[in-house]
Amino acid sequence: MTQAFSKVTAIRGMNDALPGASARWEQLEALVREWLRAYGYRNMRAPILEHTRLFTRGIGEVTDIVEKEMYTFTDLLNGESLTMRPEFTAGMVRAAIEHNLLYDRPQRVYAMGPVFRHERPQRGRYRQFHQIDVEALGLAGPDIDAELIVMVARLWKLLGISDVKLEINSLGQGEERAAHRAALIEHLEQHKDILDEDGLRRMYTNPLRVLDTKNPAMQAMADAAPKLFDFLGETSRAHFEGVCARLKDAGVPYRLNPRMVRGLDYYNLTVFEWVTDKLGAQATVCGGGRYDGLIELLGGKGAPAVGFAIGMERLLDLWGQYQPEVAAPECEVYIVHQGDEAQRRAALLAESLRDVGLAVIVHAGAASFKSQFKRADASAAAIAVILGGDELAAGVASVKMLRAVDQTPDTAQLSVPLDDLVAFLKDKVN
Ligand code: ATP
Ligand code: MG
Repeated sequence: MTQAFSKVTAIRGMNDALPGASARWEQLEALVREWLRAYGYRNMRAPILEHTRLFTRGIGEVTDIVEKEMYTFTDLLNGESLTMRPEFTAGMVRAAIEHNLLYDRPQRVYAMGPVFRHERPQRGRYRQFHQIDVEALGLAGPDIDAELIVMVARLWKLLGISDVKLEINSLGQGEERAAHRAALIEHLEQHKDILDEDGLRRMYTNPLRVLDTKNPAMQAMADAAPKLFDFLGETSRAHFEGVCARLKDAGVPYRLNPRMVRGLDYYNLTVFEWVTDKLGAQATVCGGGRYDGLIELLGGKGAPAVGFAIGMERLLDLWGQYQPEVAAPECEVYIVHQGDEAQRRAALLAESLRDVGLAVIVHAGAASFKSQFKRADASAAAIAVILGGDELAAGVASVKMLRAVDQTPDTAQLSVPLDDLVAFLKDKVN
């Protein structure tokens, strides 16, 4: 048969998670919620669409994200510029301000979900991807920076992941950054000839960002550039040392990376990334830091904050390298039947089984026992229940163990009175 319509495919860089893969996502999400609960973090949800100016102001005009990665469009109904969130923090902070969340106490919050960036798709880099975003709002000390980092170390442990390394840096405060900025611009001016297009454009608008380059030709120049870390005053240094001391207390190894600036403008003091060499070119699984100026910048009453985001696709990729997926069965009990009456009885029986917590599929439609059993087997159900004319006449159902649900494999077909069936199956599955 010829196809009447052309196929509509997914948008490039935007992935489907089919049932098997999605089960893995759900497993991760459940684990993540438990992990966050252990630290007193509560879930919150903000919209995917926000006013564009939230991100241009919050993330910074001269950043990769705002300059070239945002999905921005005009709302045709009212001419407003809207943007699909490229990250969570700006929206979380907007919501916290709008609802006065920090009025009488700090807030530990998290969100999980899709974010959108118009990047070149490759392994670990997609246009719709997912983040676990964690924010501690209204807390200023190095204790909370360290707690967040230690918390991530615990997640790696929970997932059985090793080989993720922690890099940290301090971006200091405004005045320190200004002094460093002047020195940096001088350095960049001396090496104008090797700056690429981005570098030249950002030299005066966001010189720090020039050092964040992935251009190999600029690495040596970036390595030799004056380091912000050397411009830190006593208070900033004390904060940084406070974080380091607590990481040592917790036995979390780290490396100072004085070149790390992170991809967003709002950070100050502590910044950190967890990197691995197990994900090809996309090395960073988790990135975060302190952003004490953002709440005020977005119109709130000034308050400190610190947070991080984990890329879930990269995390799943990594997790899979340590703990292979185990396919989850579609159901626990698969009911096959023969004849109209048996089919109707099967539907009612399935409801009773669901009442006691079992997952049940009733074979849909009519088919030979053989083809129904094939389906039952493909569903990976532990138990098949057979309802045929003979069974109904005798007031029983046949039960066949397709897979050993307990230690003793039991392949015989059993005859169980219909009245006892629910209790029998419940006992078998649990
Ligand atoms: P990168 O340097 O890899 O572009 P980033 O600094 O832009 O990362 P963040 O904005 O800090 O990334 O986002 C937090 C995390 O989200 C990253 O550490 C990474 O794990 C993940 N991530 C970022 N961009 C993508 C993407 N396009 N596709 C999949 N995951 C991503
Ligand atoms: Mg990026």
